[in-house]
Amino acid sequence: MLSSQDLTPLSLQIKQWGIELGFQQVGITDTDLSAAEIHLHNWIAKGFQGEMDYMQRHGLKRSRPELLHEGTLRIISVRMDYQSESLSDMTQVLDDRTAAYISRYALGRDYHKMMRNRLQKLADKIQTEVSETLSYTNIEVGMRGFVDSAPVLEKALAEKAGLGWIGKHSNLINRKAGSWFFLGEIFINLPLPIDQASTAHCGVCTACLSICPTQAIVAPYQVDARRCVSYLTIELQGAIPEALRPLIGNRIYGCDDCQIICPWNRFAKMTAEADFNPRQQLNTQELLTVFAWNEDVFLKKTEGSAIRRIGYERWLRNIAVALGNAPLSPQVIEALTDKLKYPSDLVREHVQWALTRQLSHYDSFGYNTISDLNFKQK
Ligand code: SF4
Ligand code: SF4
Repeated sequence: MLSSQDLTPLSLQIKQWGIELGFQQVGITDTDLSAAEIHLHNWIAKGFQGEMDYMQRHGLKRSRPELLHEGTLRIISVRMDYQSESLSDMTQVLDDRTAAYISRYALGRDYHKMMRNRLQKLADKIQTEVSETLSYTNIEVGMRGFVDSAPVLEKALAEKAGLGWIGKHSNLINRKAGSWFFLGEIFINLPLPIDQASTAHCGVCTACLSICPTQAIVAPYQVDARRCVSYLTIELQGAIPEALRPLIGNRIYGCDDCQIICPWNRFAKMTAEADFNPRQQLNTQELLTVFAWNEDVFLKKTEGSAIRRIGYERWLRNIAVALGNAPLSPQVIEALTDKLKYPSDLVREHVQWALTRQLSHYDSFGYNTISDLNFKQK
């Protein structure tokens, strides 16, 4: 029977291999998520998950890793930094209401496949090492890797594994690396020695609660997803609630405001992974340019990107909202008018809302007719 002590050299090797494979940190924890399970149940009881039914679909599997993968005793938690541009570059785009803001995690190649491949390499190394040095134990190593693909409470596991603490905005924060990173896990059936859990360092700060454009962080550590721009622009299938549309500003895919404002992100490091660099100039696109992409162009420009998952219809829905919030301009009116006959009720309704909002500016600016702005009526 192997003890944690017997496995100390292996756990040190796992951490070293993880770094060599491009992860910035590797931690190990056990499967006890009882505190996180209570938090999850309270969150769901309040209905904060909105349409994300999958949050409650898997029973206790999400908070009890051994139910998701039988025999699991430990979780190897890894993080990989993805920040590819400075905070001032991000705020510059956010402040320019003619520009399209896309959440920074989605600018590069979709991280799922790449992280899964790296985790597989780490698992292969563990397998080889165990067969070579622990063959006398006859132990069969059972492992399964996850990257945001199964019901896993990855932030709670990472916090227990010492990778950071869950901040008041509900993202994981690392004292030396901020919060711009992806997480992945390997569930394993070996009793590896565990790391010390991280302690919280938000202190009295409430910057993320104040900056949130939709006031989605209803209390510290409580995000009502139904108000969160990430949920509204990515997860929500149908119409975006009208009251929230003006608050979305120019955010067309996700939102980073609570991370941008977080003081701990001053310590974040730029990624060394070329895959996470912005593709197709997605970090600096104009709203009018991306609204003009037809479906073929959308599919081509978002090839290999996480953005594709929302599909072209919701892409247009989101940009229509942002154009409704854009500065008064004949070009915006013209682009919206062009889409009034688009064959989707969802898109047409958001385009109509945006036009109504734009045209309300005419009144407030004292223009009487659209032609006052040299708008070329079609
Ligand atoms: S992602 Fe944006 S909308 Fe969501 S909680 Fe953070 S600041 Fe608020
Ligand atoms: S902005 Fe402040 S309160 Fe919010 S997560 Fe960061 S440190 Fe915590």
